[in-house]
Amino acid sequence: MSGSPKRLTMEQLDRLCRRRQAAGVPMPAYAGPLERHVADGDRRLLKLLYDDSAAALRLWNFLLTEEDRLHEARAAGRKIVGTMKDLGTVPVMAYALPNLVAFYPDGAWWTPCVMELSEGLFGIAQSLGLGDAMCPVRAMAGAFVNRAHFPLPDLLTCSVGATCDDFSAIAQRLESLGYPILWWEMPSRRQPDPGEPAVTLPGGFRAPESQVALVRSELERVRAALSELAGSPLADEELAAGIREANRVRAILGDLRRLAYTADPCPMPALEMLIAEMLAIHFCSDRAESVAVLTELLDEVRRRADEHVGVLPAGAARLFWVNPVADLRVMNLLEDCGARLCGTEYLFCHALDAIPQDVPPMEALARMALADPMVGPSADRAARVVRDARALGAEGVVVSRIPGASHCALEGTVIGGIVRDELGLPVVELEVPPVADPLWPTLKTRLEALVETVLERRKR
Ligand code: SF4
Repeated sequence: MSGSPKRLTMEQLDRLCRRRQAAGVPMPAYAGPLERHVADGDRRLLKLLYDDSAAALRLWNFLLTEEDRLHEARAAGRKIVGTMKDLGTVPVMAYALPNLVAFYPDGAWWTPCVMELSEGLFGIAQSLGLGDAMCPVRAMAGAFVNRAHFPLPDLLTCSVGATCDDFSAIAQRLESLGYPILWWEMPSRRQPDPGEPAVTLPGGFRAPESQVALVRSELERVRAALSELAGSPLADEELAAGIREANRVRAILGDLRRLAYTADPCPMPALEMLIAEMLAIHFCSDRAESVAVLTELLDEVRRRADEHVGVLPAGAARLFWVNPVADLRVMNLLEDCGARLCGTEYLFCHALDAIPQDVPPMEALARMALADPMVGPSADRAARVVRDARALGAEGVVVSRIPGASHCALEGTVIGGIVRDELGLPVVELEVPPVADPLWPTLKTRLEALVETVLERRKR
């Protein structure tokens, strides 16, 4: 479409969708008005603002039909792998085999938000001893028990070791309920000792070669389990092809992020960009379609950047965002407060960096897994935030805390301190629960204050 893009309510977006359908505009089979998902209980959709492009509508539809895709995959005889915690590694392996499909049960993290707590997952988790002192990922345990959200996987994997206490406890509880898990060890990434053989990981962290070798041997166990499930060996050749395909997704996302976070006026809203970034983790259960969805989004962003049009006024305060928000609506709020995203670190930057293609595939995957920002010290994460925020011209940083998340107690202080020391930027820490409506005035005031500070600093 042409003209200035806008953010629309769901009702407006659905009207636009119906007009496009009536005009015979080609759409994928899974596309349609979002109101059908509200009928299924996704009530938060009524409160969000959406980008008005066909590309964004396709993105939303793709996201919201993932459970259908998983059920269809099972009905078609494909095996389902539930990959837990590693955010970006095991799915690359699973999708290298044509009869496997992988997804993250962790994604139930957002179900209480999307269904505005009407689905009762936290209540089930509570009954299992997983109370509200834990991260919202406890909703995953509820989803396993009530079986109303995703099909039970044929194989469950989970990285363990350098894993947050929350996930570790919840996954162990799942196993105690009779869901067998293939655990694979992830060591806590450390700096190489002087003279110790070491490698530079994708994204720039360094790690001793011995740690990479350990992760590689652990991933070999995962490879064996995937091969057994698929009934055919996962050879290096297939893995290398799977890595090339994953890198295709990452390359498109890289271009999309660079342009969406740097062009002024802002060509794509923060909420759609958050969802686009999430496709990198497991391709929303359809790798080929995720390439098509992201390509269309990138084309739209390129067109807008070329035409110098955007969804927000030019000159909005440029904020770098750390951690995903439990309530998606907060991504709208930041824009309502006069800000825009200029960069992100949503806990899975290792799923955005290119996987090396010049080393054997299992070595490449081990290096990528060890580059996870969450398996090293917070200072490593902070260094990455500093590097990316500097490169992307951030004027302020928001660290959004996740209620109950063990790593959030102190990491904001560490990251905020290093960002202030190295970049001299204002930093705000916010806690965002899955439905943040009661905190709206506080969140709004704090974001507006940050924007005001940024705009004042421009006058210096
Ligand atoms: S505590 Fe943090 S890292 Fe752990 S599951 Fe929750 S959001 Fe993910």
